[in-house]
Amino acid sequence: MVAASKRVEDRPSAYAERLRRDKQRGGYTMTASTFDEIGRVLRKHQHFAILGHVRPDGDALGSQLALALSLQQLGKDVRVWNEDGMLEKYSFLPRAELLTKPPSSAEEVDVAIALDTAIQNRLGTAFAAIRSTKIWINIDHHRSNPGYGDMVIVDPSAPATGELIFNLIKSQGLPLDHDIAENLYAAISTDTGSFQYPKTSARTFEIAAELVRVGDLDVGQLSRQLYESYPRRRLELLRELLRTMRFEFGSQAASFSLTLKTAADLAVLPEDNEGLIDHLRAIRGVIVAVFFEELADGKVRISMRSKDEAVDVCAICQKFGGGGHTLAAGARVRGNLTEVEKKVLEEIREALKRRS
Ligand code: 5GP
Ligand code: MN
Repeated sequence: MVAASKRVEDRPSAYAERLRRDKQRGGYTMTASTFDEIGRVLRKHQHFAILGHVRPDGDALGSQLALALSLQQLGKDVRVWNEDGMLEKYSFLPRAELLTKPPSSAEEVDVAIALDTAIQNRLGTAFAAIRSTKIWINIDHHRSNPGYGDMVIVDPSAPATGELIFNLIKSQGLPLDHDIAENLYAAISTDTGSFQYPKTSARTFEIAAELVRVGDLDVGQLSRQLYESYPRRRLELLRELLRTMRFEFGSQAASFSLTLKTAADLAVLPEDNEGLIDHLRAIRGVIVAVFFEELADGKVRISMRSKDEAVDVCAICQKFGGGGHTLAAGARVRGNLTEVEKKVLEEIREALKRRS
């Protein structure tokens, strides 16, 4: 592996400044690259693999496809891999067929790019499919990202990785057409909760406006595909989850749980539960929402949301080996459902106590 870039950008952004301070404190080893440095690497090399995290969301899939399409237009050879392949619910995305499960025999590429992936481990089998690469690039917006890879852009102020890919494409004059714009719009729209979450900024709306203009996007149709095309079983799943809904700590925490049995009875797909936790977060007085999902491997997936920066769910999830953002995070915890619920709720109680 080549350490292509190990320096903080010349004209420091707020992020680079923060990084430098963290480094001075000695606790942080993240390296930062500039879009220019990454742009040069993209133009120079020929064989690319663009990867995203397991259990992908709209941001991972849209960002992967957008960057892949832009590189393809430069004549590059691009693999687009995700452990879970393309999800049914995002299969309307332009050129969705490019995104596949990784091959069983590992391949050699020049540049491997991880998008929206807080730790390398969350690339799952896509990571194993890279036999060798000259350069690893890590582009992400998760605060818990430790900065793995040779070239790193981790910007926790960005509401979506799609915004970072837009900035990369624009700053480097890379191709941007209708298909790329639609993938980026889907990435940004989904990761901002349709432009609602706190990191949504004027810049986010400016980017969205430019994507709509440049790509001549049909926002109404896109929104229908993103938010009004759910399978009926998703609502049937919500009905079952609401039966398990409970409130704790003066109703400041709300949670619900999904057992393997219920998931099997309803024949739900893992992707069906994306966003259901928002129903809990949306309740007045609730500060922390948690979704517990029993997994087949003896672990429980926890998905957490907070409405208050003073209750940092990323920190809570990191205690369980996970990560994410201050207001949205997750982890996979070994143990049975009841045990994990108890342990996690205890940590939430502590966090709520510290707040008050
Ligand atoms: P979700 O609850 O939607 O699955 O995830 C919320 C956020 O937390 C996402 O940004 C996601 O990447 C991150 N996240 C979820 N699960 C895990 C995990 O097991 N490990 C880490 N490091 N991050 C996670
Ligand atoms: Mn994201």
